[in-house]
Amino acid sequence: MQNNCIYLDNNATTKVDPEVIEVMLPYLTDYYGNPSSMHTFGGQVGKAVRTAREQLAAILGADESEIVYTSCGTEGDNAAIRAALLAQPEKRHIITTQVEHPAVLNVCKQLETQGYSVTYLSVNHQGQLDLDELEASLTGNTALVTIMYANNETGTVFPIEQIGLRVKEYGAIFHVDAVQAVGKIPLNMKTSTVDMLTLSGHKLHGPKGIGALYIRRGVRFRPFMIGGHQERGRRAGTENVPGIIALGKAAQLELLHLEDATTRERRLRDRLEQTLLTTIPDCVVNGDVTQRLPNTTNIGFKYIEGEAILLSLNKYGICASSGSACTSGSLEPSHVLRAMGLPYTTLHGSIRFSLCRYTTEAEIDQVIEVMPSIVERLRALSPFKNDDAGWLQGQSLVISH
Ligand SMILES: *Cc1c(COP(=O)(O)O)cnc(C)c1O
Repeated sequence: MQNNCIYLDNNATTKVDPEVIEVMLPYLTDYYGNPSSMHTFGGQVGKAVRTAREQLAAILGADESEIVYTSCGTEGDNAAIRAALLAQPEKRHIITTQVEHPAVLNVCKQLETQGYSVTYLSVNHQGQLDLDELEASLTGNTALVTIMYANNETGTVFPIEQIGLRVKEYGAIFHVDAVQAVGKIPLNMKTSTVDMLTLSGHKLHGPKGIGALYIRRGVRFRPFMIGGHQERGRRAGTENVPGIIALGKAAQLELLHLEDATTRERRLRDRLEQTLLTTIPDCVVNGDVTQRLPNTTNIGFKYIEGEAILLSLNKYGICASSGSACTSGSLEPSHVLRAMGLPYTTLHGSIRFSLCRYTTEAEIDQVIEVMPSIVERLRALSPFKNDDAGWLQGQSLVISH
């Protein structure tokens, strides 16, 4: 296997920083002790875990005691949602959005079958929420509001603190899936309205298999994993020590690079986006370009299939994405773009490029160079080019809903 690809799929997963690998390796080899053990050998591992916890707490402006390690972002979302409901058994209503990650959306769908009522807030064509709709949905029966910080597909950032102020008026627990926000947006839990916040290691140049849930001190929490007393009884199971050490270092590096990396990524992203928009006819940016992650652009190319664009890009060694990885493999267009009410002409031809601090100027140049001819060639093959009605009809043969 070799890897010389141009990797612009960082919202799906990221490269582990070599410094992160360096600090975690000894905990896979020499320092394999259990951090809960009484002996010195285990104790020194426990000390390293405490340092890593401080490093992670720092990027959130949180206290170490407010961090609970999980195996991934999905576990963090599941644990937060279940804990909030178990802590308030008398309340049976949940508010979320139509554009959440499946790790939230599918949990909510299952809870509907268990007697909970769920409000799925809609979004406008830019992917933004209507705070009046949120306000109208909140009641004294609302146990939990779970809303993502930033959308993985479009990069659209929600006004989390404005949402939180409304949620607090009704006494509901406020959980935020911040998997795409940590390391890209400055966060400070000390001045935040957020009660619980999910993050994941592999989205911020850490390894897969480690994540964390921030739980504000004083927020009632019922554990999802039952067993030993690890994580102050909030998540049983022997700690993933190498993962925890790695996540600490990854968080430290993200915080260190946050300002310069995001400035650089935003500039590269904007150049990519602007150039594609000017050199390729009939394409549009999906999402809220004023409130957006610095590393993400989602562009809809009319009259062609996103999957066909991806396959062509793949021949040049360029990795991007159409819709989320979790839904790819099916012909269903992304639930996020559908919730935004995009026309069918662009719904199927949307591509996400997501950059990171390793993305280079030359890589962006390469994408800018190949994209116009890819789109032109695919459109030449498309029987419905420049024909919205024909394209629509053709699509309805494939997708029936
Ligand atoms: C990737 C992602 C998740 C899931 O995280 P895993 O660590 O892969 O389980 C959840 N929410 C968002 C917004 C994501 O982008």
